[in-house]
Amino acid sequence: MGTTKIEWTDHTWNPIRGCTKISPGCQHCYAETFAERFRGVPGHPYERGFDLRLVPGKLAEPWRWSTPKMVFVNSMSDLFHRDVPDDYVEKVCRVMVQANWHTYQVLTKRSERLLELLRTRLAFASAMPHIWWGVSVEDQRYGLPRLEHLRQAPAGLRMLSVEPLLEDLGPLNLDGIGWVIVGGESGRGARPLARDWVASIRDQCRDASVPFFFKQWGDWLPWEPEHVPGWKSPVSYTHLDVYKRQE
Ligand code: SF4
Repeated sequence: MGTTKIEWTDHTWNPIRGCTKISPGCQHCYAETFAERFRGVPGHPYERGFDLRLVPGKLAEPWRWSTPKMVFVNSMSDLFHRDVPDDYVEKVCRVMVQANWHTYQVLTKRSERLLELLRTRLAFASAMPHIWWGVSVEDQRYGLPRLEHLRQAPAGLRMLSVEPLLEDLGPLNLDGIGWVIVGGESGRGARPLARDWVASIRDQCRDASVPFFFKQWGDWLPWEPEHVPGWKSPVSYTHLDVYKRQE
């Protein structure tokens, strides 16, 4: 696809378009909002709105990027959606394994399928250091089981996207987690984010020596962390810092 404004990556690659909602974190899905804007526009990539479809013509895209990139895989979908056939998931992963000069970030809310496939059909890709496997964790009910699935998965590098954070997550088992991104919700109707919820995750990351990247407060609160007296984020890294740590 191309460059992106997402702070923790620099390119997106969408060999799948569209998705369906699965948990509260999906409520204000930016991908859906974007895609639905173009429903019915002839010839537009999102002519069919947010309906899920495979885009085989995009599979070879990483081969055409000659310089190394940090690639967010399926920013407009979910690789492990039930309607994406195993064969196609495997094809996406074979491209990632072969075009290995890039770093890929795969983020899903379908963590049970991620776990099942990394143990079986995707074992060839699971431990590759240039492929980061991640799950979204927005709350305790839906997010914490995903964290456990990820921890059980035979992944080389595991990441958590705690965004939009919707409540205090409580104690987290961060054993085996490579890095954590936290953020609030953006856009109209953004839900509240409490400073204590963020600080709790930050402190747990610090205690577990897990890199912590605080992305944003979102649109619910009209202030930024540097404007809060005493706010410090002692284990906050940019994605470039984290990238260097992997070398
Ligand atoms: S899983 Fe992700 S892409 Fe799919 S609806 Fe939810 S937020 Fe949107």
